[in-house]
Amino acid sequence: MTSSTSRFRIAVMPGDGIGQEVMPEGLRVLEAAAQRFGLTLDTTPIAWASCDWYTRTGEMMPSDWKQQLDGHDAIYFGAVGWPATVPDHISLWGSLLKFRREFDQYINLRPVRLFEGVPCPLANRKPGDIDFYVVRENTEGEYTNIGGVMWPGTEQEVVLQQNVFSRRGADRVLKYAFDLAQSRARKKVTVATKSNGIAVSMPWWDGRADAMAAAYPEIAVDKQHIDILCARFVLQPDRFDVVVASNLFGDILSDLGPACTGTIGLAPSANLDPERRFPSLFEPVHGSAPDIFGKNIANPVAMIWSGALMLDFLSHCQGAGRAAHDAIVRAIEDVIRSGPRTPDLGGTASTTEMGEAIAAAVLRG
Ligand code: ATP
Ligand code: MG
Repeated sequence: MTSSTSRFRIAVMPGDGIGQEVMPEGLRVLEAAAQRFGLTLDTTPIAWASCDWYTRTGEMMPSDWKQQLDGHDAIYFGAVGWPATVPDHISLWGSLLKFRREFDQYINLRPVRLFEGVPCPLANRKPGDIDFYVVRENTEGEYTNIGGVMWPGTEQEVVLQQNVFSRRGADRVLKYAFDLAQSRARKKVTVATKSNGIAVSMPWWDGRADAMAAAYPEIAVDKQHIDILCARFVLQPDRFDVVVASNLFGDILSDLGPACTGTIGLAPSANLDPERRFPSLFEPVHGSAPDIFGKNIANPVAMIWSGALMLDFLSHCQGAGRAAHDAIVRAIEDVIRSGPRTPDLGGTASTTEMGEAIAAAVLRG
């Protein structure tokens, strides 16, 4: 990675569907923040990693995609998928999942936060009650292709599927979570587990969590079985600060969390290589949403907030990048509270109007 703390090279991949509509708003807000806080963003527009590209070339990405990304600090990604023309396993495995694997983006980070003005699906919850992070292990664990079917087609048919956890893999995600908690006021880590049922890997995972906890005496640690943890996301979301989980459990929690805070159009995510050997990737949680594409009504907040996470990460959560992140999140709060809002938030504004309002709020400060 080449950048100093104020100049960043960003590959911009709008992808498919509403990715193409929310990306311009993400860039608009990033440019406003860069202008206000003295950051320089060198952006490279990239048309591949999209189903359009696949339709034209028969591939999701060109064979020299890695070289083309050389020297970039981050990938700012819209959405991928257009199931009407390209099956999801091709579009996803040919782009996003390749980045995750080949760039060893072993952290999947999702902030979960309730904003004022968004109807909360949970009863009696107000902003401030829900404000935590889900940290998901993104490269190993339950998601492997190791296994197979024995005696197929017979009464004895049995299927085996291996989990793979490594000490390096577990320790690095746990360390990330503890460091994140250390930087926050509440200093609390909740570790998702299931050591009462998954009798080999999960007790081992608990042991790695205990070992990590020993190095962070000021952090309160709470291990919870995944079943009750899901229930508590709904019933007591105010208990959480940083939640760390294996690949499968984190996958579930990182959808459940944002679902507890209203529309999917708000939820951002980061796929991080915290060691910065490779570009990290920042994208909305939502997909390409073919049902609303072409109407300019998609909510741009998830895209914009993902951009804020990008500036924060690229600047090591300090200085101008941290200030830009905080200003963008405050601008999102303002605009969600007082409008203009897109239809998923009960308003009538277009994607563009909401993006312009957030950019203006960033510039106003
Ligand atoms: P994925 O691509 O992750 O598999 P999906 O294709 O199943 O997801 P999405 O594309 O995320 O689902 O869309 C799910 C629903 O949420 C759709 O009805 C879509 O219109 C709505 N939706 C998604 N993103 C937004 C947004 N930014 N603003 C408003 N509505 C959205
Ligand atoms: Mg989709």
